Order: sequence, then C-alpha cells, then structure tokens
Amino acid sequence: MADKKILTNPELKRYHRQMLLDGWGREGQERLKKSTVFIAGAGGLGSPAAIYLAAAGVGRIRICDYDTLEISNLNRQILHTHTRIGKYKALSAKMTLRRINPHVEVDAFDKKIDEESIAELAGDSSVIVDCMDNFPTRYVLNKFCVEKKIALVHASIWGFEGRVTTIRIPYTACLHCIFPESPPVGVFPVVGATPGIIGCIQATEVLKCLLGMEGNLYNQLLVFDGKSMDFKKLRVKNDPECTVCSDYRK
Ligand SMILES: [Zn+2]
Repeated sequence: MADKKILTNPELKRYHRQMLLDGWGREGQERLKKSTVFIAGAGGLGSPAAIYLAAAGVGRIRICDYDTLEISNLNRQILHTHTRIGKYKALSAKMTLRRINPHVEVDAFDKKIDEESIAELAGDSSVIVDCMDNFPTRYVLNKFCVEKKIALVHASIWGFEGRVTTIRIPYTACLHCIFPESPPVGVFPVVGATPGIIGCIQATEVLKCLLGMEGNLYNQLLVFDGKSMDFKKLRVKNDPECTVCSDYRK
C-alpha cells in the first residue's frame, strides 16, 4: 500500500494550479494531506467551507451536524440535494465530499456538539471551522479552542451580511471577548449566496493556517454587506478580564 503521506501522481495533477503558488508547492500540499480539520455544521457555511477544503486536498475532514435535511435548507446548503431530504446532513456531506475528491478522508458525525462531546468530535484537528447557526454552540467551540490553543475560524451570517474572524490564543481575542453575550437564537433570514461567500473566506483562512501563511484575520472582524458590496475590517481586542481566555494568556 502506498505511503498515505506521499502525494500520488493523480493528486499532483489535481493540485497543480495551487502548488504553483509561492509558499505552497509540493511541501505545502503534503502538509495539507497530513492535516485534519473539524467543521462544526454542515449547513449554509459548512457547505462551501467543506467543499473547498476537500477540493484543496485537506487530508482528513471531520464534519459534524446533528440535524436531518429539510427542504427549507436547500436555498443555501449546497452540500445536499433534493433527493436527500430527511437524511442526516453529516452523512450527506460525506457523500458529496467523497465524490468531489476521493483522496480525502471524511469522518461524519450526527452528534450534538457540547462540552462533553467536543474533544472526541474534534479529534486531533489542528483547525476548527465554526459553521454553526447559534452562539451557545459557538461558545463551546471557542472554549475548547482557547484551552487547546487551536485555531478557530469563526463566521456568522444574517440576511445579506456576514462576519468572519480567526481566533488563535494567545495571539488574538477569543469569541467571548468579541461577543460577550449570545444574540437571540431563532429563525433568521439568509440569502444563500451570503454563506457561499463567507464559507469560502473561512476555507481560505483555514488553508493559510494549515500552510503557515501570513495574512490571517487575527484580531480583525471582516464584515461583508452584500447589499452595498462593502467589505470592512474592524479591529477587535482581547478583554483582559475575559472569563474564558484570560487564564490562557499567561
Ligand atoms: Zn476571551
């Protein structure tokens, strides 16, 4: 059996155009192949994030979603198809990702993410992608990433608007520093292309983290407004009194 860490000829062809980049090359591609990423949520954000990370050749993708597919998900959750309504989204995601790139290993979990389950679900992932739709679960991801000092690529959307930041302790503020209180949980409007754009930005952030490239959204909240087509970057700062991250900065 071929060494799983070495790129095969079909993989070298598949990834040729990205390997032309400075700071990527064959070495970077092998690094991606050895990487594991945990994607929390196989919905509007998780769909493009997972598709582009699989297409880029991240070696192992762990994707978790507790829900089954509903018809109202299909205006934005492009991992799934009309024929899979009623199926677990995690399994549907695995099916799609393996079809896009059979060189990528995909672990699918239809579990609830909470303080008890997160360590097992995330496994040995070096980056976690927050593609959730509620802050209580995001805070679970944040606490875990703060404690383990794992990069967390956070995003949220509402209507035409999306926000992204990359958290990495001790260099950045944590999610709790930026958003100390959870906005109300409930059904909110979403234009499908918005998570499409924002999920692609998350995938770009993950790839830079894995490759050790510069230019991440550290201590910056990127705010995209699809109505005016404005991209703004807001500076964010860690809260020295933060109950989640202050002990992990010493
Ligand atoms: Zn904090």
